[in-house]
Amino acid sequence: MLKQACADLPLATDTTMKITTIEQAGYERVAKCEDPAAGLTAYIAVHNTTLGPALGGLRMWSYESEKAAITDVLRLSRGMTFKSSVAKTGLGGGKSVIVGNPRTDKTAKLFEAMGRFVDSFGGQYITAEDVGVGIEDLMHVRKTTKWVTGLSRADGGSGNPSPYTALGCFEGVKAAAIEAWGSDDLKGKVVAMQGPGNVGFPLGEQLVKAGARLVVCDVNQENVDRAVKQLGAQAVMPNDIYDVPCDIFSPCALGGILNDDTIPRLKCKVIAGAANNQLLDEVKHAAAVTARGLVYAPDYVINAGGIINVSLELEPGGYNEAAAVKKIQNIFEALRSIFETARKQKITTHAAAQAVAEANLAAGPAKKKAAAPAAR
Ligand code: NAD
Repeated sequence: MLKQACADLPLATDTTMKITTIEQAGYERVAKCEDPAAGLTAYIAVHNTTLGPALGGLRMWSYESEKAAITDVLRLSRGMTFKSSVAKTGLGGGKSVIVGNPRTDKTAKLFEAMGRFVDSFGGQYITAEDVGVGIEDLMHVRKTTKWVTGLSRADGGSGNPSPYTALGCFEGVKAAAIEAWGSDDLKGKVVAMQGPGNVGFPLGEQLVKAGARLVVCDVNQENVDRAVKQLGAQAVMPNDIYDVPCDIFSPCALGGILNDDTIPRLKCKVIAGAANNQLLDEVKHAAAVTARGLVYAPDYVINAGGIINVSLELEPGGYNEAAAVKKIQNIFEALRSIFETARKQKITTHAAAQAVAEANLAAGPAKKKAAAPAAR
């Protein structure tokens, strides 16, 4: 049950902004921001900063209700804690969401107000892009807070994280293929991809280059057309993707898509994709996937490429692409090890990943990050 209480944080620069603390067990800090003048309703959740400041993207989405927005930000920020813990980024877990339609509701004023909200966390939370939010939006956020990563290379950032997330996912698909078929050869494999967007499309490019064939679905027809035209993909309707006979199901859209309805329908051997929070119920649905004999690459392990890339911005020497790529390629071995543990201990791959995350959290921080993103 959520309990809300007004925190009355001082925000001298904007008198219409109201920030309300939301008490949430297991989270260090959760807050809601309302700024009617800027058209902003947003939430920030800091789950855990044991290993460093909480870094996680800013999502913009047309949530149906306040409950849906809060549920999303809580699940996403918790996932970031485990993702960064397994990937050893030296960061904690946090996330933020703006309630609104990213196609129609974006304004400079909205993102400047969001920057003030981020700033009110004093560095406990550092933002970046996520679904519905791009570098151009973060440039407005940057006007009112320094706690922003993932800006363009020209502005001293590490750029769009999506291609790096895709690179990590490709490594993860290969690791899962070894677990399923004893080889990482993807030639002739059929991949059913849900959502060939910013991550899915470059992942699709790598899969096709490796000899795989794609079947895609998307609620955005432009992205379907691009995959058909440029990747030779076959298109299916969004709700049909779960029934496609394939070797690999690759969820690259939104969360909760591994559930009571979809798991029995899947006709794949491997589940490996970029989407966050793929399991609607982490325990129940991880067990259901395992019971069906499917190799599931835990989402927060396979999709850590973006956070790894961004985390390099906070290294004392600043961003270094070669170092980022090398670290992202470790996702291959991280997943191999998780698959092996799950197989030997007869536990779900989700439980095996969770054990690694918890152990790293218990061991504490390995090294200190820079106090703030480099001045730009
Ligand atoms: P995106 O918006 O560019 O791509 C998602 C695609 O999914 C879009 O084309 C969208 O139209 C489509 N989609 C949405 N709902 C759908 C549905 N019901 N059926 C079919 N398609 C649907 O986002 P992205 O940046 O590529 O991220 C994709 C997923 O990966 C998200 O869950 C995100 O949280 C996760 N992720 C992204 C990154 C990153 O670096 N961008 C990093 C880690 C995790």
